[in-house]
Amino acid sequence: MDCIKIWDLEVFAYHGVLKEENTLGQKFLICAELYMDVSEAAKEDDIGKSINYANVCKEIDDYLRANTFKLIETMADRLAKHLLRRYTPLKEVSVTIKKPWAPILMPLNTVSVTARRGWHNVYLSLGSNLGDREDYINRAIRLLDNDKNCRVLRVSTLRNTKPVGYEDQDDFINGAVYMQTLLSPSDLLSLIAAIEKELQRERVIRWGPRTIDLDILLYDDEIIQTKDLTIPHIEMAKRKFVLEPMAEIAPWVRHPVLGKTMNELLSDYINLHSN
Ligand code: ADP
Ligand code: MG
Repeated sequence: MDCIKIWDLEVFAYHGVLKEENTLGQKFLICAELYMDVSEAAKEDDIGKSINYANVCKEIDDYLRANTFKLIETMADRLAKHLLRRYTPLKEVSVTIKKPWAPILMPLNTVSVTARRGWHNVYLSLGSNLGDREDYINRAIRLLDNDKNCRVLRVSTLRNTKPVGYEDQDDFINGAVYMQTLLSPSDLLSLIAAIEKELQRERVIRWGPRTIDLDILLYDDEIIQTKDLTIPHIEMAKRKFVLEPMAEIAPWVRHPVLGKTMNELLSDYINLHSN
């Protein structure tokens, strides 16, 4: 991927663990590697299609003066995420914060921390079979999109489906969304749990009636197996109500374990259940 590099931008600011650092201030040197595709800008020789590095330098300076952190770890993490949100063409950002005047009472050239952050491609499934089902699903999508670490980019059609697993309950409405997030898988799980809670989800019967169910289907090409999280979602290839909306919004996306696209998984499902 192409990269615009800003090297050793000097910022005078008040970050640090010590009181003196917060009152006297010190010099920080900032390096930012901005990963994006510059071919369109290059083809047309047009700065409007790129990111103006003078503007980024100003943004970095403003951000590090407006916010005060104790650790250079936090500075690097927050600044990288800030730049990713502020400049939409960016796919990844690597920020290095150097502290040449680190007060350690020894001769030292510099100490630095680098944080590399980027947007992750995520697919979620949504379902509801209690109350105003469509409204719950739309509110969940709005809550996701309003979170500063997420941007919802594609939403499938919502479909009416028969309950699976525990059948003595009302029909569901199901759909899927494609979004990008700066959150780790476990932080994303916490976010969807918080949204489910806000939308009065109560866990009473397994697979039973619920105002909202949000599941993580795919997170980049990652394969994750922990106590709380299985990605890709363990049941996704066995559920028509997941495969149909996925084949609609992501037909060519490949399941990283099964090695098949969403289109292929849906055809397999239909063939298996056709007789
Ligand atoms: P279900 O989705 O199976 O109907 P719940 O929504 O009650 O059931 O989820 C139960 C637990 O499943 C969650 O607390 C979460 O820890 C776990 N889980 C494991 N993998 C995933 C995933 N990919 N997406 C969402 N939850 C998951
Ligand atoms: Mg769930």
